[in-house]
Amino acid sequence: MLSDTIAAISTAVGESGIAVIRVSGPEAIASVEKVFRSKTKLTEADSHTVHYGFIIDPEKGEKLEEVLVSLFRAPRSFTTEDVVEISTHGGIISVKRVMDLLLEQRDIRLAEPGEFTKRAFLNGRIDLSQAEAVIDLIRSKSDRAFSVALKQVEGALSRKIGELRHTLVETLAHIEVNIDYPEHDVESMTTEFIKQKCSLVMQGIDSLLKTASQGKILREGITTAIVGRPNVGKSSLLNALARENKAIVTDIPGTTRDVIEEFVTINNIPLKLLDTAGIRETIDVVEKIGVERSKAAVDEADLILLVLNNAEELHEDEILLLKQLSGRPVIVILNKIDLPQQLDRSEVNRYFPEEAIVELSAKTEEGLDHLEGAISQLFFGGELESGDLTYVSNVRHIALLKRAKQSLQDAYEAADAGIPIDIMQIDVRLAWEQLGEVVGDSAPDALIDQIFSQFCLGK
Ligand code: GDP
Ligand code: ZN
Repeated sequence: MLSDTIAAISTAVGESGIAVIRVSGPEAIASVEKVFRSKTKLTEADSHTVHYGFIIDPEKGEKLEEVLVSLFRAPRSFTTEDVVEISTHGGIISVKRVMDLLLEQRDIRLAEPGEFTKRAFLNGRIDLSQAEAVIDLIRSKSDRAFSVALKQVEGALSRKIGELRHTLVETLAHIEVNIDYPEHDVESMTTEFIKQKCSLVMQGIDSLLKTASQGKILREGITTAIVGRPNVGKSSLLNALARENKAIVTDIPGTTRDVIEEFVTINNIPLKLLDTAGIRETIDVVEKIGVERSKAAVDEADLILLVLNNAEELHEDEILLLKQLSGRPVIVILNKIDLPQQLDRSEVNRYFPEEAIVELSAKTEEGLDHLEGAISQLFFGGELESGDLTYVSNVRHIALLKRAKQSLQDAYEAADAGIPIDIMQIDVRLAWEQLGEVVGDSAPDALIDQIFSQFCLGK
């Protein structure tokens, strides 16, 4: 099944400086050689070399493109197969012409989405959690999320899972010995041993799970609603954030068609602002706060930025809003500090602590950095910059970790209840398998197909 040769355009299709076509498989080098003219013969070239030349239509003898061809010989390539990467000028026409010509070669077919990464996985170069991290890398919304995904591609999560599984294998071996040689009468010692090992692994799982909420935030962004009365400066704030932090408009594949979400990153934390229509709807929400619909939008948010006008006295609607929002994850923004203060801050303090209040000017951008600090404080206890970047952020991984923990809990309780150890063995083995599924050790084919189908073409 893996013995054929595949090709795809690996860069985003559209206008760009260069575009890359990737070819992988046993015929990769020979097939490209047929349409490539340069000083050196590809078939004789060393691995990890780059060659300048032209793509030629072999039938018409016509020069199609000036290209650079990079050569990676098996197994030292992304897929572990022979890989050739052709860098062409970026125009869609020129890339397509080269691609079409390659596909006319009988031994090359168009790759399916994610097929290159899938080959890397099936050939044992990366495990499943690493493959999934490749998807995260492609979709990262912030530098931070990118670093986290990169770490995972490098195998940080795999290593931690590996350590936990190793402990479980030791435990299983210990149980096995005990079952095979019961006459040694070490039953009670074994029960203690199993309990000890189970709690050790459960602790390990717990510390991974603890990173999950941060991981999710880094991956998906903090769903953020900006609320406040008309003219307090919500749009100005949004623009200031976007300007400072290069708002990215992302079209997320896999979600509802045409849904555009707007992201701004603050201190490397991605905020997912509701889609533009939604923002307008939630923004001038204060008079309608009683209206169920606007309330729902606020309820849904992970973070609410309540904007007040520092240069005016609090409006009764705003007092109502402060009341209604207390206890929620809110940052109160006192905007327009470039103007003389009119607002009574102690009134705000009745509902929100000092740490949740930020003074700034959306106009002069003074104090904007305090908002960034307040957000990191609220979501990461200010600790975002520490840690080793091993975050569990994938829902599939989280579910498996929780199940593995439950299995170990069952084993632990069985041990306590004096249930025979061959029963405990079942739970410990189950936990071992569930952890294995994270890295794809015991993952069913359907799951693997589903994961790789999320990739874009050419990855
Ligand atoms: P929104 O209705 O809440 O979205 O408010 P806008 O962002 O449209 O701002 C309303 C008015 O307040 C505009 O004239 C802004 O230029 C002005 N404004 C917004 N932020 C500030 C600020 O920090 N200082 C001053 N002086 N004016 C501001
Ligand atoms: Zn506005």
